[in-house]
Amino acid sequence: MITPPHDVIFLTSEMYPFSKSGGLADVMGILPLTLVRLGLRVAVITPFYGRMSTGQHPVHLVHENCPVGYPWFDTTADIYRADYHGLPVYFIERGEYFDRRHYYCTYKGDYFDNCERFIFFCRAALTAIRHMGLGARIVHAQDWHAALAVAYLAFWRRSDPFWAGIRTVMSIHNLAFQGRFSYRLFEESGLPLEAWNMEGVEFYNSFNLLKAGIAYADKITTVSPTYAQEIITPEFGCGLEGILARRQADLTGILNGADYDIWSPDKDPILEQPYSADKPKGKIACKKALINTLDLDPALIHRPILGFIGRLRRQKGIDIVLDIVPELMKLNVGLVVLGEGRAEDEVRLMSIVEDYPGRVVGIIGYTEEMSHIIQAGTDIFLMPSRYEPCGLTQMYSLSYGTPPVATAVGGLRDTIVSYPNSEANGFIFDAPTPQGLLTSVRKAVTVWEDREAWAIIQRNAMLSKFSWEKSAREYIHLYQSLHRDITLSRRTP
Ligand code: ADP
Repeated sequence: MITPPHDVIFLTSEMYPFSKSGGLADVMGILPLTLVRLGLRVAVITPFYGRMSTGQHPVHLVHENCPVGYPWFDTTADIYRADYHGLPVYFIERGEYFDRRHYYCTYKGDYFDNCERFIFFCRAALTAIRHMGLGARIVHAQDWHAALAVAYLAFWRRSDPFWAGIRTVMSIHNLAFQGRFSYRLFEESGLPLEAWNMEGVEFYNSFNLLKAGIAYADKITTVSPTYAQEIITPEFGCGLEGILARRQADLTGILNGADYDIWSPDKDPILEQPYSADKPKGKIACKKALINTLDLDPALIHRPILGFIGRLRRQKGIDIVLDIVPELMKLNVGLVVLGEGRAEDEVRLMSIVEDYPGRVVGIIGYTEEMSHIIQAGTDIFLMPSRYEPCGLTQMYSLSYGTPPVATAVGGLRDTIVSYPNSEANGFIFDAPTPQGLLTSVRKAVTVWEDREAWAIIQRNAMLSKFSWEKSAREYIHLYQSLHRDITLSRRTP
């Protein structure tokens, strides 16, 4: 038997630094690379977006007009390639689908042709594997955008020896985003009619792409052990708890890590001054810089500044934060919010900002640089998520010595040790309600006022490390359970 050139090929709709709208991109920017460093042969396939940033990683055309066969017509994709620190990344280019201002939606809503776009992506990625001789033992699909590839493989490998040996893994980064479309689009997908049933892709008479991945993958993963438990319950299962419970034996929660090459205050070029757990002084300089940059009241240097970074969505509990701003202001603190999302939250945030000049700052938009500056310059990080598959921003806030105040859900539970505890690195509260958040913030502010107690929590936070190497080894273990031939080709560090 011929050895395929790759152990694992990732299919993903986002990958940092090329494209990013959330945590999925961060994970794809580091997990495949960590697997390469541990000795696996890995590649990534992702769309070629018009708004993509290629930066220091030039992208070259490697295959023009790669045929993408649909059952009833043929079309083509151009395939580009970049070398990302030794990891090959292939980009599927087709301007009419991916050369747009946004990835998935505009302010008016989702792109009307999202299903066609990602049917195309999945089919093109698989045909690229075949036509370009990329070959793999495992195809590892991320979220609904890539989930159809898993379903295609489940059927194709029955009859086509080329695909027969391939195993599949489906990773769920956020169960709330499922990619639900009409039956007409199921017909366009080219999946056989036998997939249209409750154990397959059908979900209350709609075509559910994520469900397709869950139904047909050999293994399913999600991004924290607690979320893996939560999603088999009606409270967190978003309607898919039944099929997930039936597949529980194949479902694993593997905690994401943080990329400490990017998210460490001792080597972050964006910061005013470096600092670390052993030399924490630079954090004050970062706080001063934040106050100056955002025109905050200079008196806040003596009071805690709270930070919030994330999508302005109900999931993240931004409404809960905005509900308690008047009460927060009575605590004589500052508040900085960075995010974009629902128009009504954006408008509400900006009106609150006007009520508290110098005390509340809202930045609507997506800026990577500002997110580092806020993580470093604030004292307490707010994350009152209603659910949180893993959450990366709390890991970054821990690394930057900005203890989080967060709800007891998903990955927040798996990464935050709540005060009072000698190992505490933050504050956890149960119910995602304004009262719950306010009580917890009050507690955090009281501890902040006790400099010694705060220094211990801050140090614990900065020493909390969520290593990608540990998580990557868990993925390797999972791959090996599917394919005995997967071995690490080089000596591991
Ligand atoms: P999710 O993937 O649910 O949005 P995560 O916490 O897993 O949440 O990851 C969010 C990622 O997106 C982090 O890297 C965070 O810094 C970044 N991010 C979110 N909103 C913004 C924003 N408005 N500006 C800059 N970065 C942001």
